[in-house]
Amino acid sequence: MIDLESLPDQHGHFGPYGGMFVPETLITALNELTAEYEKVRGDEEFQSQLANVLREFAGRPTPLYLAERLTRQLGGAKIYLKREDLLHTGAHKINNALGQILLAQRMGKTRIIAETGAGQHGVATATVAARAGLECVIYMGAVDMERQALNVARMRFLGAKVVAVTAGQATLKEAINEAMRDWVTNVRSTHYILGSALGSHPYPMMVRDFHRVIGDEARRQILEREERLPDLLVACVGGGSNSIGLFWPFLKDTGVRMVGVEAGGHGIEVGAHAARFQGGKLGVLQGTKTYLLADADGQIQLTHSVSAGLDYAAIGPEHAYLRDLGRISYDYATDDEALAAFRKLSEVEGIIPALETSHAIAHVLKVAPQMPSDSLIVVNLSGRGDKDVAQAAQLLLK
Ligand SMILES: *Cc1c(COP(=O)(O)O)cnc(C)c1O
Repeated sequence: MIDLESLPDQHGHFGPYGGMFVPETLITALNELTAEYEKVRGDEEFQSQLANVLREFAGRPTPLYLAERLTRQLGGAKIYLKREDLLHTGAHKINNALGQILLAQRMGKTRIIAETGAGQHGVATATVAARAGLECVIYMGAVDMERQALNVARMRFLGAKVVAVTAGQATLKEAINEAMRDWVTNVRSTHYILGSALGSHPYPMMVRDFHRVIGDEARRQILEREERLPDLLVACVGGGSNSIGLFWPFLKDTGVRMVGVEAGGHGIEVGAHAARFQGGKLGVLQGTKTYLLADADGQIQLTHSVSAGLDYAAIGPEHAYLRDLGRISYDYATDDEALAAFRKLSEVEGIIPALETSHAIAHVLKVAPQMPSDSLIVVNLSGRGDKDVAQAAQLLLK
């Protein structure tokens, strides 16, 4: 039996996945980061400082909310929503940003950089940098900057410099390349706050640990409410941070099934989706070995999703391993299914979800009616939909 909680190994491997695939100039910095992180992991003072800002600044714990009308309408499993959308800045991303900036401050760093796709991680990073009084630079694809003008303005008001990246597709992948280039040059003064359970070791482990508070709380809350564990956990999967955060504390509970939901875009055809487990293969991208969407020559394929936060060619390495082991299964929802779920949750529960989150809701709409009425689902409501309202209005309110 593999002890799932002992992963990754000391070199960052989750079975055949993960590792440190970076330029040599970054190895020292990553080793330092790993060593410093290992120190704070068990450090009571650090952990209580983090718990304090999560509570006072970010708004934890988040409620586990029974979606009564949705449950009744679907006529099957009882549906609970883990309300990460209620956190400061509107999504789970602040959990990781707060953890990493406390670590950066410990290491004496004076400058923070990050990449962002939809802008949610950029906003979370700019927010924690403002709170800490540190210089902050956010790399963002020029195409994404146009699509997410509101978040660009938020980052600027928070005092961050937003740098437009025009290379290639001018989206997230190119923004990550630029951030890595900056880090190589300024590694002494600078900490790179990576935004998902991706990239080189120690990021997949560290980001997961900073989000496990989601699952720790949910486990305690469902036991209080129902006096038993849920039958099914559901979360959307971009890089895989909100999902691994919810799932991780339940990994040993063999009766709890888990489903990660990827972006099916227009359907599973080359270039039309971002579902890495549908036609993806083993490869290396931006620091880690994992499942990704590439052609026969290893060239990264174009991806598409209605939600910018799920639109990335690689999935976090721990997910690839947990899928191999059969512990987590993965499905996908298409753009249309996600948009329908966006409408449904808004109308039935009075909660407008992020388009990323809507993929998880879409899966619940499919499976809940087939489950017995005494079964329990917990779905991670990873973020609120305010940022997506203009885009959804264009698509849905014509
Ligand atoms: C960024 C984002 C995601 C996708 O990222 P993960 O690392 O897979 O969680 C999902 N939901 C929301 C609201 C996001 O902002």
